[in-house]
Order: sequence, then structure tokens, then C-alpha cells
Amino acid sequence: MELHVQTLTELKAGLDRGDFSSVELTQAMQARIAQHGESLNAFITIMDDAALAAAQLADEKRAAGDGGVLNGLPIVHKDIFCTRDVLTTCGSRMLENFISPYDASVVERLSDAGAVVLGKSNMDEFAMGSSNETSYFGPVKNPWDLDRSPGGSSGGSAAAVAARLAPAATGTDTGGSIRQPAALTNTVGIKPTYGRVSRYGMIAFASSLDQAGVITRSAADAALLLGVMAGFDERDSTSVDHPVPDYVAGLEASLKGLRVGIVRQHFDSGLDHATGEAVREALQVLQAQGATLTEVDLPNLDYCVPTYYVVAPAECSSNMSRFDGVRFGRRADNPEDLLDLYSRSRGEGFGEEVKRRIMTGTYVLSAGYYDAYYLQAQKVRQLISDDFRKAFESVDIIAGPTTPTPAFKLGDKTDDPITMYLNDIYTIGANLAGLPAISAPCGMVQGLPVGLHLVGPHWAEESLLRTVHQYQSQTDWHRACPEAFR
Ligand code: GLN
Repeated sequence: MELHVQTLTELKAGLDRGDFSSVELTQAMQARIAQHGESLNAFITIMDDAALAAAQLADEKRAAGDGGVLNGLPIVHKDIFCTRDVLTTCGSRMLENFISPYDASVVERLSDAGAVVLGKSNMDEFAMGSSNETSYFGPVKNPWDLDRSPGGSSGGSAAAVAARLAPAATGTDTGGSIRQPAALTNTVGIKPTYGRVSRYGMIAFASSLDQAGVITRSAADAALLLGVMAGFDERDSTSVDHPVPDYVAGLEASLKGLRVGIVRQHFDSGLDHATGEAVREALQVLQAQGATLTEVDLPNLDYCVPTYYVVAPAECSSNMSRFDGVRFGRRADNPEDLLDLYSRSRGEGFGEEVKRRIMTGTYVLSAGYYDAYYLQAQKVRQLISDDFRKAFESVDIIAGPTTPTPAFKLGDKTDDPITMYLNDIYTIGANLAGLPAISAPCGMVQGLPVGLHLVGPHWAEESLLRTVHQYQSQTDWHRACPEAFR
């Protein structure tokens, strides 16, 4: 089998058997990127020489009987993760020239395990977006239809994995940015429990919601990577010291007795009919494997998006304040005075969506409106968490669609932020409540992929991965690849 066709798990076995070297594998992926990377606009930086050097080292280690669990396996990092001596832009003009002096924890852990970094993927500016159209480096195209969006903000990572330019990629998810692009590109995307993976060196958007995860082609691949990324990090004060199970070992247990709750509100109006049918069929497969299906309620679902669009901009306005042209970020030329320096640096450095959020966030935090908006949103956030807690009294996981529709056309929603925001209606709740959630391929609607969304209680990554793995042992949706990229 050609190398780019294989999953991370298959490639690992191939390397272990000595079927090919990491250098050969890396060169094969680099050839794919050279062939397709540009038409998809999936990358901001391609790390040809550094990747080959890492692959060479991995081969040497292997020959010496050494090397970590990912030794020699190529991956891609979302450009939100700081990578030492490598451009780290976060999709923004503000950081157009930023060479990070250090590695994010996620980057460090994966590299220490032997992963070979192929490059940095394109993304919505500062991870604010659902379509990858807010990137300063231009939109990413969906490999299933180049006129459509791959979703966002981890759209470059998702497109690269879906088009077989890399077997796996990192992503981040503040309101759906791993799961929504995964759903729209037929890949697997997992957002772990808040605190599971270190945020150190991951450029902050909304600190109480941001969480790092992965985009892969199978649950087994996600389990392999998450096992390396997860765990306590003293450099991140929100990282939690909670044992990390062996996610790969946990994949094989049966689904017998698994209680799956179907969210009644997810199938109300607003959900594309065929998308809903695909999700219902997937649930039947789980049932045939021994899971029980019941309905559950998330009564405050309608408040998820409005609550998020108070909390996230509030935190964003605070996090973005460091980019002032003095401490961090682009500096305007020939400023007249300090105020001119600040306003022009920020005015030139940030795009429209980021500015919109800074203004909204500043407004909801202002003395006159703090109680009416920010405080109120925090209370509703608690109600949303309570809804999930109640649901998990009677079920083990919650299931529904990841997105209301399959991939939309580029440009379709750019003039209407509210419609764009509503794309995350099913995913945002997990971030507000800090819960782990996964999206997995479960069907096609008019040639476009559909995602099944599962949410678990805190620390239930293992059961999410196992459920998807068992589902993937009975179905082939996750193997589908757009024709032009086979
Ligand atoms: N689409 C959401 C937003 O625009 C979520 C982004 C994310 O998860 N980073 O904020």
C-alpha cells in the first residue's frame, strides 16, 4: 500500500517491521504536500529540511533500538502552537514574522516521542472563526470540494489529514475548532477534557475554553497521539494532575451496556434532514453493537452560542491586549506618539473578526455592562454545565450531529457573523462545560462528509475513543477519501 494511504497506526507498524524508513516516509509525505499543499492552502510553513533531519535522527535511534512511541511518524502542527526557531503566526498579520524562541508543551511532548514535524497548518486568525476564512494567509479549501470551506479554525490541519498530506495533525478547540473541521472533512477530531492537555505555548484565545487535541483518520490514531500529549504540566496552571490511561489499550472493550443519550434538542429544526438521518443510522450501528439508546435533554442548548459569544470575546479582549507592538506583535512604522503606535500597530495587525471580538469583549467587561452581560453569561454557563451533569446521571455518553449541515461554500457566511456563529451550536456546550468530545465520520450527504458528535463526562476520553473505534470496526466511512487525493 502506498505510504500516504496508510493511517498513523499502520505506518507505525510498517516502521516497526522495517518495511520503510522514516526518511522514506517523510519524503513521501513531502511529495504529497508539494503536489497538493498549495491548491488547498493548508500550510503556512513547510519544514522540509527540519523534517528530514528529524526523520534521519529517528532512523538512527531505531537502528540503535531506541526511540519513543511515535518514533519517525510525520505529523503537522496547527500554527497556534509555538515551535522553537520556526515561524508561528497564529494565522495573523500581527505575528507574520514571529519566530518562537521555545516549543509549546504539546510540541515538545510529541517531538520527544519521536514525531517528525512536516509543517505548520493554516488556521483562522487567532483561532477565531468557523471557516478558515479569517486567516491572514487566505482560506483553506475543503478537499471534498475546493469551492467549500473545510471548517475552522483548525481547517488547515483537517484539510491536510483529509487529503492525505499528513497522517495526523494537532488542533485546538475553543468552541468546536477541532470537531467542526473534522466533521466537514471526514476526519476524526477529539477535544479532551479542559485541563487534560497542557496549554503552555499554545497561543491563547479564550483561556477558560481553549483545549488542544488532534485530527486523525481513525480513533486508534487519535488514541496513540493523545496518550503522548495528555498529562500534567507544571507550566500550565490550568493543567490537571489526573492519571492518563493507556488509550490504545482501552480501544478493544465491547460497547455492551454503553448507555448513549440522544440529545432531543439536536434533532429540532435547524438540522439538515439528511445529516440527521446519517447520524441516526450511526446510532443504530452502536445499538447493534450492544449500546442502549435513550433520549436526553439539554434544555439550555439555545443559550450556548450567545453565552459563548460573551465569554469568549471577553477573554479574547484580555488575551489580545499583549499584542500592542511593544511587548508582542507587529509594530507600525514611524509612529507619531505612543497612542499612534498602539492604535496603528493593532489596527494593521488584526483582521476584522479579531477586532469585532475585541470590541465585543471590551464592551461586555466594561463597568456599565459587566453585570448585564459578562456576569449573566457566567451564570448561564453554570446552567449549561448543570444540564450535562444531569444528563450524565442516566447515560455514559451523549450523541448527536457535530454540525447542522455539511460543508458550506467559501464566502457564503462571511457577511453574516451570526449565521457563521450558529455553525457551532452543537459543539460549544462541551467547551463551556469543560467536557471531552469527539467527532467521527458517519456518512455522506451529496458527496460531502457528515460527523457524529459524542460528548462524555470529565476524563471520559477513553470511552469516546473506544466508542468511535468500535464503530469504525463495523463501518467504512472513515476510510472514504476525496477522489482527487487518493
Ligand atoms: N468557531 C468558534 C469561534 O469562532 C470556535 C473557534 C474555536 O474553537 N477556536 O470562536
